[in-house]
Amino acid sequence: MGFVEDIRFKEFGARCVFFDRFGGVSNYPFDSLNVSISVEDTRENVEENFEIIKSELKAEHIATLNQIHSNKIVKFSRDKKFDADGLYTEELFVFLGIKFADCLPISLMDVKKRIIMAIHSGWMGSYLGISKEAIETFKNLGLNPKNVIATIGPHICKNCYEVKEDVASKFPERFLTTRKGKIYLDLSSVNIEQLVESGVKRENIIDMNICTFENKSFFSYRRDKICGRNIGGIMLIDTNQK
Ligand SMILES: [Zn+2]
Repeated sequence: MGFVEDIRFKEFGARCVFFDRFGGVSNYPFDSLNVSISVEDTRENVEENFEIIKSELKAEHIATLNQIHSNKIVKFSRDKKFDADGLYTEELFVFLGIKFADCLPISLMDVKKRIIMAIHSGWMGSYLGISKEAIETFKNLGLNPKNVIATIGPHICKNCYEVKEDVASKFPERFLTTRKGKIYLDLSSVNIEQLVESGVKRENIIDMNICTFENKSFFSYRRDKICGRNIGGIMLIDTNQK
């Protein structure tokens, strides 16, 4: 098993981790750390993969959503599975996990008030302004966006994410490039702009610059069509930091 981690969060008592596709029990084409039962993998395999992830993170709970490409953000609750694309918590050892295979998994934390959030942002979520909604949610909780750090995990990059006119027309020109008659969309910049316009400092936002389409350590729906889903997100591990 492998993962990439944004170690900035450790200083604030949190872990921001995005797992690659290895180290699980699922078979081809879901090999092997698939976390989605919406693909044709078996429930047993997926459940075992969640146990592997839980033990690797030393998490008490792994929270996921029924992701619906919306801009809806909810507060984590142990007994409820939400149709939404973002969730937040102040609880320790609850890993807020986003399932992804090209879409952007984004982790956020208010490092002063110690609240964490994970969101899922594909073109629809980006169009609906989920990153803006994320910061609005924080503001409604009394948080100051100046104290927020954010990480954009592995996703399909601006050089690989080809879109058709129907999607392209929903975004300003500055997020689009055209090469050989094909249009490409830069979803990372769309989300970064929403975060910055909402008050997050640009220097507090990192894009890990890992492309799921190019890097075969990750599932990519665009590349493989029938494939699993990766998981990545954020967890609080210690209240006694800063
Ligand atoms: Zn790429």
